[in-house]
Amino acid sequence: MRILISNDDGYLAPGINALADALAPIAEIVVVAPDSNRSGASNSLSLDRPLSVQRASNGFYFVNGTPSDCVHVALTALLDERPDLVVSGINNGPNMGDDTLYSGTVAAATEGYLFGIPAIAFSQGAYGWEHIDDAARHARDIVQRYYQTLPRPYLLNVNIPNRPYDQLNTVVATRLGRRHHSEPVIKASDPRGKEIYWIGPPGACKDAGDGTDFHACAQGQTSITPLQIDLTHTTQLNALARALA
Ligand code: MN
Repeated sequence: MRILISNDDGYLAPGINALADALAPIAEIVVVAPDSNRSGASNSLSLDRPLSVQRASNGFYFVNGTPSDCVHVALTALLDERPDLVVSGINNGPNMGDDTLYSGTVAAATEGYLFGIPAIAFSQGAYGWEHIDDAARHARDIVQRYYQTLPRPYLLNVNIPNRPYDQLNTVVATRLGRRHHSEPVIKASDPRGKEIYWIGPPGACKDAGDGTDFHACAQGQTSITPLQIDLTHTTQLNALARALA
């Protein structure tokens, strides 16, 4: 089994190192990840400049680009053979509800999925690397247990609670919850007195009800949401067609 691993926190992040260590015993792995933290990059591709690929002493490839760039370059140039699975993460912090639209972690997996390869994005339910090795071992369990049996191709968004391995014993299928809109930008001044703005933190949960990813993680359960890419609002399609007639 061949697994392509990427992330959005960069090739030096503890999350991708733990994931690579956990998957190496069960698969032939290749790591291609951004050279720096590109969290929030979503599905962006770098079209305004060329990309360069370098190799670190541990064998990881790193790219001066986005998570989607990394998987794109890996699949279309670097790899001799198509991987059986693309995995992304393990992200520092959750990717639940509306986060999935902005997430570079989910985007790296999505790029694999767009090429027709099964793909899984892994994130920890809370920030901080506490229990990252536990999460990585649990991620390997999920790959081993479900890789073969799920209908293909699939794009899964997995959030793992930050807790010891022996407490990671419940895995549930969820839908995405919803967040309130983001907090306002944070205003500051640059050294020349010019006003600058930091994008603020994500909003609080709006829909964290039963069946959502937020709810599962809050209960200490590992959440797996199957994602799709088609953004068509199918229930509005007929109404729109009537309005345009
Ligand atoms: Mn990240």
